[in-house]
Amino acid sequence: MIRNPEGTGLSMTQNTEEIWRLIDAKVPEFTALSDRIWHMPELAYTETRSCAEHTAMLREQGFRVTEQVAGIPTAVMGEAGEGGPVIAILGEYDALPGLSQEAGVAEQRPLPGPGFGHGCGHNLLGAASLLAATAVKDFLAANNLPGRVRYYGCPAEEGGAAKGFIVRDGAFADVDIAISWHPAAFAAVQEAVSLANTRIDFSFQGRASHAAAAPHLGRSALDAVELMNVGVNYMREHMPSDARIHYAYLDAGGVAPNVVQPTAKVRYLIRARDLVELRALIARVRKIAEGAALMTETKMAAKVVSGVSNLLGNTPLERAMQANLERLGPPPFDEADHAKAAEFQATLSEEDIASAWRRIGLPMRKGVSLCDVVPGLEVKGAPMMGSTDVGDVSWVVPTVQARGATYAIGTPGHSWQLTAQGMLPAAHKGMVHVAKVMAGTAVDAIRDPALVAAAKADLAARTAGHPYEPVLSPEVQPPLTMSLGDTSRSAA
Ligand SMILES: [Zn+2]
Repeated sequence: MIRNPEGTGLSMTQNTEEIWRLIDAKVPEFTALSDRIWHMPELAYTETRSCAEHTAMLREQGFRVTEQVAGIPTAVMGEAGEGGPVIAILGEYDALPGLSQEAGVAEQRPLPGPGFGHGCGHNLLGAASLLAATAVKDFLAANNLPGRVRYYGCPAEEGGAAKGFIVRDGAFADVDIAISWHPAAFAAVQEAVSLANTRIDFSFQGRASHAAAAPHLGRSALDAVELMNVGVNYMREHMPSDARIHYAYLDAGGVAPNVVQPTAKVRYLIRARDLVELRALIARVRKIAEGAALMTETKMAAKVVSGVSNLLGNTPLERAMQANLERLGPPPFDEADHAKAAEFQATLSEEDIASAWRRIGLPMRKGVSLCDVVPGLEVKGAPMMGSTDVGDVSWVVPTVQARGATYAIGTPGHSWQLTAQGMLPAAHKGMVHVAKVMAGTAVDAIRDPALVAAAKADLAARTAGHPYEPVLSPEVQPPLTMSLGDTSRSAA
């Protein structure tokens, strides 16, 4: 069922609730924060200025601030309130390389500079989450209610898996529920489908030799990598259909074909439906790497670089969030917003637009450029086959995420079109709207201990028999100095 409040009177209820009025009261400061972050795009783990902006806003709004969460320089947490349940609202602020773009222009026009851009909308993501947390703080104070709200400013969602390290450090140990969102084409509750993944570097060590004069003395590490890839490619036929394996050569052993390559390194990105399947697949890939080393008489070493868990849903929280969405109705986009979004749609293919409708699970309606509906919870789209580091949070805390409608339907993720739309009035309306959805859900949890208990019982049932065992082993450290090449490959 599609619920469109137009003409039903539902939209009349918009902003009548106290928590939503508290959001509206602070819109200018937070849209300005989002715009400032848009103007200072910074890559994973180097979000120094963006994190400083969020930290300053937390202080300005009266939060108790903890900097360098989990020892990560660009992670920050702010808490407000006393006692009661602990509600975490998660934000992000990292940008992407290669996606610099002039704001508001429906034509590819990179800005001068290093070429970074907010092509995933994380400028909005952080600002809306901090706005929601601020409104919840104000609500607790105005009603003199017990309860704590926390904003977690999480860096490096794009390939850095920062939330996994923050979870491992215990920063979510006393949190009762977690709420987050991501920019999207449609306003909806996020369907909890995302793949667990890990990046592992396989290094081979052989023996150099003159490739013509003494080939029998050489042992080629490059051969080992190639045999490993052949082995994994044969395995593809026999792995679960949702699993994904990708690889990239980090070191092909040099540029001289007349030297037997003594070293070679390949990075594998392995994805699977859940942690259980992922671990089984990692074990098989390792066996193939060992086999390649055995065949070539080289030595193999494997190093885990990053890892994220699959996302766990939470039915009670999803229902609560959906109820908020339905009371709110879709974001209040106007004619000018639709016209601007149509300009961006004109730069997209028919297939881009069709796949956005398929992903949300609604029949395509031509000529509709922005979200004008609230899909029911029973509407299921094509599952997202990427990954997110929110997955790790969802294994230790009941977690729910919204999709916030902030851009033209069909805009691809990680595109210049997405960067370009990040400061439009529609983006601002979408971020305020989703802040209301998140804050409303938080207030439901504060008011209703039974909702928190049900959310916890749901998580316990989902993890029964296979408790959280992170992909990140204890020796893996946050890749604070990850190269641009790494960050261009998003966790998503
Ligand atoms: Zn993103």
